[in-house]
Amino acid sequence: SKKNGRACWTYFDETMLTDARNERALERELRAAILLGHFRIAYQPIVDGKGEVVAMEALLRWQHQLRGTIAPDVFIPIAEQSSLIHDLGLMVLEMVCRDMPLLPAVPINVNISAKQLRLPDLLAQYLAILATHGIDPSQIVIEITESASLTANAKIIAAITAIRAAGFKVALDDFGMGYSEFNQLRHLPYDTIKIDKSYIRNLGQDAVTDIFVNAVVEIARTFGKSVVAEGIESEDDRIRAGIAGCTCFQGYHYGRPAFLEAGPMSLAMIAAE
Ligand code: C2E
Ligand code: CA
Ligand code: CA
Ligand code: CA
Repeated sequence: SKKNGRACWTYFDETMLTDARNERALERELRAAILLGHFRIAYQPIVDGKGEVVAMEALLRWQHQLRGTIAPDVFIPIAEQSSLIHDLGLMVLEMVCRDMPLLPAVPINVNISAKQLRLPDLLAQYLAILATHGIDPSQIVIEITESASLTANAKIIAAITAIRAAGFKVALDDFGMGYSEFNQLRHLPYDTIKIDKSYIRNLGQDAVTDIFVNAVVEIARTFGKSVVAEGIESEDDRIRAGIAGCTCFQGYHYGRPAFLEAGPMSLAMIAAE
């Protein structure tokens, strides 16, 4: 980051946001933004080998009145430090349900924070939101990012099991980025594995990456699970992920996250980043 001025400034900006005082200010603003509904959801397609859209991932954006659009990597960690993550999680599912009649008739992937899984009421609250909109849980894929706490905690395993038993699909997100991931494949119930973009980027260039992805694909195939390759930015990426055995693909090559254009029965999407 000392190599050029620009990188230096970027780094400085991020440091400012993680500063404790800024975090408290952001947390207060976040609380207000939830009440005021200053959020939008961007949707990104997930396609199969034929290029057909098989799902859409819902990605949250904070439309800040002064700071502009704030990315989830900035505010989700702050929400996770307080109970705001619970309100945010319910808000996201509610927004997705409202959008569903305007979206392609495919399952919608919704991200969930591991912390939300600790809330005993989570499943009942999720089911209540779906029931209000007449949406079946099978239309929602809950994306869980692996973290050390997932398999270590029997309550979390039970929560994921209950979510899946209620009819939701479960995807293990950012696979390969934590540790103990193969352990999770033994202990967590799931339908889909999403291989993190950092692995996809290095396919065919580094033997350990190739062996890792092949092993994940082999396990998934054996148990009838699907494997999504994240971060497909070019046809070249898609070909290498396809050769590695990934069954579904997601990335800028197929479409950037985009807002659903307001308007009656409109399927138009507008740039969200
Ligand atoms: P994620 O779940 O891994 O989502 C994929 C991220 O990769 C998104 O960033 C997406 O815009 C980006 N992406 C998609 N295709 C490409 C590509 O081809 N190349 C590259 N370089 N990036 C690509 P985004 O939208 O900024 O979200 C960041 C993270 O924030 C998400 O990572 C997810 O962990 C979290 N997040 C987003 N929405 C929610 C939410 O509603 N709830 C929770 N708890 N977390 C969320
Ligand atoms: Ca995700
Ligand atoms: Ca991911
Ligand atoms: Ca992530």
